Amino acid sequence: MTSLFYKNHKIFYIFSFLDILNNTFSNEKIALFFTKKLYNLIKLHTKTIKNTMNLKLRYVPDPILKQISTPVEKIDKELLSFMDKMLEAMYDKDGIGLAGIQVGFPKRIITLDLRDKNSDSDDEIKNRNPKFLINPEIVWCSENQTPLEEGCLSVPNQRAIVNRPQKIKVKYIDRKGEEKLLEADNLLSKCIQHEMDHLNGKLFIDYLSKLKRDSLVNKVKKMEKRGDLD
Ligand SMILES: [Zn+2]
Repeated sequence: MTSLFYKNHKIFYIFSFLDILNNTFSNEKIALFFTKKLYNLIKLHTKTIKNTMNLKLRYVPDPILKQISTPVEKIDKELLSFMDKMLEAMYDKDGIGLAGIQVGFPKRIITLDLRDKNSDSDDEIKNRNPKFLINPEIVWCSENQTPLEEGCLSVPNQRAIVNRPQKIKVKYIDRKGEEKLLEADNLLSKCIQHEMDHLNGKLFIDYLSKLKRDSLVNKVKKMEKRGDLD
């Protein structure tokens, strides 16, 4: 709710800014350029507000995060629209992966987007490259494990190093209902493994010592108590 209020304000400021622009720039082309940029921003934020309204992110120590998600039996319009909402919620929080259970939906579904880091464009929407994984299964993983500092939308603002296999092969069903096999390494591999852990009720903090885990959970509890999480 806080976020929605904040975003509505953001749009109000954008509209006010548009007025100022129109009055400031005598050169029509410059005014038009900024107007277009702002129009895209408004479109992006309006879409985000519309699509994330019903989804509530779950934070530790919410017991639902320990639940094991069940396989999807039917890919229908409702499921796809739900996954679209998940994707927008993920973008809204600047995440790179989200599992259904993190928004309280215990089905084996994941949205991912590492964004195109090599792109020259600074257009946030153009750089998007979303992936939808339904009923994913890791069919192979490398023996070689590597460390990576991980974070999680359900454990906001906390990070820790986790060791995981460097490479994996994952079988999944895409949003068209087609079975796919994906070979992933580095960040994509780690991200898929992290999200697949969620489907089995496991969080990245479960790889840490109890002391460290409890300390991170307590920090999140305090943030929630202060009203820093929405
Ligand atoms: Zn996570």
